[in-house]
Amino acid sequence: MNPTLKFKDAWGYSPAPETFAVDIQAQYGLFIGGEFREGVEGKLIPSLNPATEEKLFDFTEAGSADVDGAVKAARKALPGWRRLSGMERGKYLFRIARRLQERAREFAVLETMDGGKPIKEARDIDIPEAAKHFFYYAGWADKLDFAFPGRTAKEVGVCGQIIPWNFPLLMAAWKIAPALACGNTVVLKPAETTPLTALRLAQVFQEVDLPPGVVNIVTGAGATGQALATHPGIDKLAFTGSSAVGKWLAEALAGSGKRHTLELGGKSPHIIFEDADLDQAVEGIIQGIYFNQGQVCCAGSRLFVQESVLAEVSKKLQLRLETLRIGDPLDKNTDVGAINSKQQLNTIQGYIKTGKAEGRQYHQGGTGKLPKKGFWCKPGWFEGVQASDTIAREEIFGPVLAVMSFRTAEEALKRANNTPYGLAAGIWSDKGARIFEMARRLKAGVIWCNTYNRFDASSPFGGYKESGFGREGGLQGLRAYLEEIS
Ligand code: NAP
Ligand code: MG
Repeated sequence: MNPTLKFKDAWGYSPAPETFAVDIQAQYGLFIGGEFREGVEGKLIPSLNPATEEKLFDFTEAGSADVDGAVKAARKALPGWRRLSGMERGKYLFRIARRLQERAREFAVLETMDGGKPIKEARDIDIPEAAKHFFYYAGWADKLDFAFPGRTAKEVGVCGQIIPWNFPLLMAAWKIAPALACGNTVVLKPAETTPLTALRLAQVFQEVDLPPGVVNIVTGAGATGQALATHPGIDKLAFTGSSAVGKWLAEALAGSGKRHTLELGGKSPHIIFEDADLDQAVEGIIQGIYFNQGQVCCAGSRLFVQESVLAEVSKKLQLRLETLRIGDPLDKNTDVGAINSKQQLNTIQGYIKTGKAEGRQYHQGGTGKLPKKGFWCKPGWFEGVQASDTIAREEIFGPVLAVMSFRTAEEALKRANNTPYGLAAGIWSDKGARIFEMARRLKAGVIWCNTYNRFDASSPFGGYKESGFGREGGLQGLRAYLEEIS
C-alpha cells in the first residue's frame, strides 16, 4: 500500500502504465515489395484518435497503380515463397509471433489510440490472440500433408485480403497467418480508420526479414479495397466487413474464377432459460454486447429471456450496467471506450432514435465523466422489443441491446433463428440436454453455452446465411488458402 495515498484517492485510479509514449510517425507510406513507398498519386488521409478527435498521423491512400504494384510484388514473391519448405515458412511465422509478444504493450497502446477500444481489451485479447494465430499456423506450415488425409493440396496463389476496423491487428493475423503457412503471398488492405497496427506489423515483417513482397499492405478507403478485390492478378479474395459490401463483392467476383471467402455481419441471439445461473448469464450478456462498445460482428445484440425471469434479469442487467466505467480507453480500468468514428456514432445514435420512435423504452448505464471531445455512446438496452422492430432486425454495431421475452424453448428457437444472419448464439441454462438440443437447432456458426465471446486460434469461426461463408481459424481455416488437387 502506498503510504502517501490519501483517503479520497482510494476511490480514484492511478494513471495506467500503458500510457507510456509510443512512437508514431507523422506519415506512413505503402508497404510494397518489403519497403515503405510513397503513393503514386501522393494522396494522404489522416487517422484520428476517436477518444480525443486529435490527428495521430497521415497515411497514404493507395490508388489503382499502387494496388497494381502491390499485386505484382506479391506475384513476384510467390515462386520463392512457395518453394520454401513448410518448416522454413513456419520459422518466419514463429518469428512474427514472438516479435508480437515482445512488442505486445506497444501494439496494445497503438491499437487503443487508433481505434478507441479499452486498453484492457487490446492488451488481453487483441494482441495475444493475434500472436496466437501466428503461432498456431506456424505449427501447420510443415504439416499440411496431414491436414486433409488422402488429398494433395497446394497454395492458391496471390491473396487479396480486406479487413474492418473493429479488431485491426487480430483480423490481419487471422488472414495473413494461414495464407503464409500454406505458401501464398498477400496484399492486405486495412480499414480507413485503423491502419496503424497493420503498418507497425509491416515493420515487424522487416524486422524478421520476411522475404520482400510476401506480404504487402495497401492503405486507403473503400476505393482501394475495390481496386484490390477486382484486380485481375489476385487468385483469391478474403473479406471481412459489412454484409452490404460483401454482397457487392460477391456480385463483382461472380464468373471471375477467383475464390472468395466472406465474413460478414450478425445479429446474434442470447437465450436465457429460467434455470440458468442468472448472475453468470448477465455477466456474459454484458460481455457479449458491450465488449469493444458492441462493435463486434458476433456481438450478442438480441437477448431472449424466459418470461418467468424477465423482471429479475432486467433488474440485474441495469444494476450491472451502471457499474461499467466509460471514458479514456488508455485507462486500464475503463470498460467502455470510444466509438470508432463519428460516422459509426451517428449510425448508432440513429438506431437509438428509431428504437424510441418505434415505442420502446431505452435504459442507459455507464459511470464516469465523459470526456469533452471524442465519440462516446453510453451502453444501453431496449425493453419490450418486438421481433418486427428495426432494432431487433438490423445490425447496429454499437453498445445497444434489444431485450425480448419467450415462454417455451421452441418459441425461443424460432425467434432466434428468424434473422437473415447466422454468426453466433449464446445459450444460458443449467440443463445439458437442453443446451445440446438448442445448439443443434440454432443456425449459427459459433454457439457458446454458459459463456460468450471466447476465441481460440484452433477453433473455426464463420457464419451462415448473410453472415457469410468460409471459416477462419483452426484446421478448417486452412481450406480457404489451399487448392485440393487430388
Ligand atoms: P465495411 O464498410 O464493409 O468495410 C470493411 C472493409 O472493406 C474496410 O477495409 C473497407 O474500407 C473496405 N471496403 C469498403 N467498401 C469497399 C468496396 N466497395 N470494395 C472493397 N472493399 C471495401 O465494414 P466496416 O463497417 O468497416 O466493418 C463493420 C462490419 O464488419 C460489420 O458488419 C461487422 O459485422 C463486420 N465484421 C464481421 C466479422 C466476421 O468475422 N464475420 C468480423 C468483424 C467485422 P474502408 O474502411 O476504408 O471503408
Ligand atoms: Mg483512427
